[in-house]
Amino acid sequence: MEEKFIKFLKDNNIYDEKVLEFFKNNSTYVDFKDDDTKYFIGCYPKVENGILKGVNICVPDMEDEVTVTINIHEYVHTLELYKKLNKEYKETSYEEVLPVFYELIFFKENVKTMADYSKFYEEHLMKYYEKEYLMVIELYNDLIKEYGDTSIEHLEKRVKRLIKK
Ligand SMILES: [Zn+2]
Repeated sequence: MEEKFIKFLKDNNIYDEKVLEFFKNNSTYVDFKDDDTKYFIGCYPKVENGILKGVNICVPDMEDEVTVTINIHEYVHTLELYKKLNKEYKETSYEEVLPVFYELIFFKENVKTMADYSKFYEEHLMKYYEKEYLMVIELYNDLIKEYGDTSIEHLEKRVKRLIKK
């Protein structure tokens, strides 16, 4: 399953060797089937005096497509946080947009096997993160229409523009 993860990062231009190494070195792996440890999955910035000093990551072992999507989600968080290391850090309201966006891309690529899970997950997003999720949909639709620049830098700019709306 890890090959599937790496291939996805490469195919979508978000593969970065340094970030991947950082991601692996700072991750604690948990069993997704264990409800007690599952709760800890996420990216936790270590902030000292307003400066981002590091990131603690907790991800599930990559056993199936669902756990791969979770790793993609946390990897995209890491990619964003990595750029801010040793710089001033402020939490933003749109942090979830790009990680969820790439999950959506993964769902679409694996539509046959992931239909049930993506339906469940998208309903959950709509219920709890409606604003962010609608931004993800808008971003995705833009991308489909344009077939243009799909670099993460381009997407970041788009997210910033969507927030201002
Ligand atoms: Zn997240």
